[in-house]
Amino acid sequence: MTIATNLGFPRIGKHRELKRALESHWSGKSDARALVETAKGLRAEHWRVQRAAGIEHVPSNDFALYDQILDAIQLVGATPPRYTALESEPLRAYFAMARGLQADGVDVPAMEMTKWFDTNYHYIVPELFPGMSFARGSDKPVAELREASALGIRTRPVLVGPVSFLLLGKMHGASPIALLDRLLPVYEALLGELGREGAEWVQLDEPCLVTDLDEAAKAAFRAAYERLAKVDGAPRALLATYFGALGDNLALATSLPVSGLHVDLVRGRDQLDAVCEALPKGRVLSAGVIDGRNVWRADLDDALALLRRIGDARGTDALFVGPSCSLLHCPVDRSTETDLDPELSSWLAFATDKLEEISALAEAVDGRAPEEIFEKSRAAKASRAASKRVHDPAVAARLEAATADMTRRKSPYAARREKQKALGLPLLPTTTIGSFPQTSEVRAARAEHKAGKRDDASYERFLREETERAVRRQESLGLDVLVHGEFERNDMVEYFGEKLEGFAFTKNGWVQSYGSRCVKPPIVYGDVSRPTPMTVAWSRYAQSLTKRPMKGMLTGPVTILQWSFVRVDQPRSSTCRQIALAIRDEVADLEAAGLRVIQIDEPAIREGLPLRRAEWKAYLAWAVDAFRLASSPVSDETQIHTHMCYSEFNDIIDAIAAMDADVVSIETSRSRMELLEAFATYRYPNEVGPGVYDIHSPRVPAASEIVDLLARAAKVVPVERLWVNPDCGLKTRGWPEVEGALRNMVEGARRAREELAAGGAK
Ligand code: GLN
Ligand code: ZN
Repeated sequence: MTIATNLGFPRIGKHRELKRALESHWSGKSDARALVETAKGLRAEHWRVQRAAGIEHVPSNDFALYDQILDAIQLVGATPPRYTALESEPLRAYFAMARGLQADGVDVPAMEMTKWFDTNYHYIVPELFPGMSFARGSDKPVAELREASALGIRTRPVLVGPVSFLLLGKMHGASPIALLDRLLPVYEALLGELGREGAEWVQLDEPCLVTDLDEAAKAAFRAAYERLAKVDGAPRALLATYFGALGDNLALATSLPVSGLHVDLVRGRDQLDAVCEALPKGRVLSAGVIDGRNVWRADLDDALALLRRIGDARGTDALFVGPSCSLLHCPVDRSTETDLDPELSSWLAFATDKLEEISALAEAVDGRAPEEIFEKSRAAKASRAASKRVHDPAVAARLEAATADMTRRKSPYAARREKQKALGLPLLPTTTIGSFPQTSEVRAARAEHKAGKRDDASYERFLREETERAVRRQESLGLDVLVHGEFERNDMVEYFGEKLEGFAFTKNGWVQSYGSRCVKPPIVYGDVSRPTPMTVAWSRYAQSLTKRPMKGMLTGPVTILQWSFVRVDQPRSSTCRQIALAIRDEVADLEAAGLRVIQIDEPAIREGLPLRRAEWKAYLAWAVDAFRLASSPVSDETQIHTHMCYSEFNDIIDAIAAMDADVVSIETSRSRMELLEAFATYRYPNEVGPGVYDIHSPRVPAASEIVDLLARAAKVVPVERLWVNPDCGLKTRGWPEVEGALRNMVEGARRAREELAAGGAK
């Protein structure tokens, strides 16, 4: 019997119930009990939905209030010392680690957060140190197993595997792998306990197996799984790999002593035969054939053919069918999409559709193909192939005509810098990254407008007033380069996608980004073009309000690509180039409208990096090229900024330099200015704005902290090429903390200028 399985279900809820519950709890409107109840209700509903769809192996402990790695940090007792004073209240400690805490005499910053592999999900980075000890710090996997079992549902607890846990962590001075022997006893005890609690299977997620591993990491995998295999009474272990092919780790992964191996056959389709060959007979092969990272209805005939190949090679006695990875990365339920046109909707599959696809495939392998589900798949494929909405000959012609010359500014940076002095900026110019608080009034006005309860004129008036207030506030705070505040934007990608051809939107296609933050990625189904200017009117208006330079604010082509669900019928690079040409037109129009500074955000450049180094060069080449194509139509006098956040840049600094933006602002405060090392070693040639405070936390930094960070930054980047700005946009914050923080930031910059002048630094 072939088993239908799932690796993880989105936890946010089909109406974002978890988001609401979290935010209400954080704002003090509801107590912990209410939050815990909502979470429990969601888990129950998700288990039931999976069962009802025919999934036999349903995951548990895939749920997290904030992040599954943060859960694992608490589980293994790796809470950093600065939070241990809070540990008598585990939930408070948990959210303090996630978001920082500044209340009742406590003042701790949040832990570092970074992208989960090449997704737009962010995890909390385990902070590890040599010689640290681990001990069971929470009951969550056991409690959730019991919770499901009380509902009559037997689940497969999901644990972050011990080796990936360590590899995803950060440790100074040594490789975190050195901690393996200390960590394993916690896993051993837990596996024993899960076995006693009646778990038949446990899922150990080891996505690091699809990345480049050194010998020490490979040895760690062998050592870890040999030890875990010896645990008496442990559940059978399904080792889950995803986000790519095993590649040179294939022999390692297939030789580990576990009961089953999950492989990604969407991105790692070509590994199928090799895996079938290498995986010892009798081991379960869990085939990830349904794409957990995109929204297209699967080609079920094709997926079934893959499964049949497995059947031919190994029989179907030990075969699971599942998604390529956890469904965390796709929207929950398409039934809420009442406005999507039927043709487009028929091309799509959200998490619950994917469950249906998985169980249909499992049945089909055993000869009970549910024809109506296969028919839906065939119909979608045929209608997409024939649809006129997909191909636009004008876009193809323009792409064809684009020349290399269009990717170059007129002069090199040094010459541009001289001309840009006309902007009249001081040493250490201050600015922000673009958005200002999306207050409840802003969101309410947008919602009313969208619902037709507020007419265009009144909405426009509201936004103009909001923009003007933001401009006045920035002037009185003394910022040097202003922004309009992005009040008219719901989201930095959706806003553009809505104005571009080739994009479609969902009403509720939310995907968790971090904590309670969700994004609703646009769906690129066809060729992309820009029918009319998208941002020019707002930027022109904002500039008309002030004598100071106003930044035109755009999202870059790579980020638009990266944060959308994109078509799979052409290379990503081609879609990216189409978007770049559309942004290029906008850049030219902004310059013509009098904007002398234009920022093109590319926060997602790094997360687009392939997981394997061997593939980086090719990706970076087209990504950089797309940015340059978008940013180069302007004169030397126009200053191009770019912004990047939550990324480590050391290994891609050449590419960042090759983008040739006049100024790049980056996130640095959570990783304590470490990023700047790259800029120092490589001698980044243009200007840099290292974020001087963490905007993901409500904490207000002191001016002295800013001075301190700037002094550190000035050691590695010549001060005349340094800018002063927060880490990222401020839309998730409230005005009081934003004003407090920016006041201190401007004051910090002022003091730093003074100190540098007094110290005679150049
Ligand atoms: N300009 C955007 C903002 O300020 C940038 C957001 C981002 O980098 N993620 O909101
Ligand atoms: Zn950012």
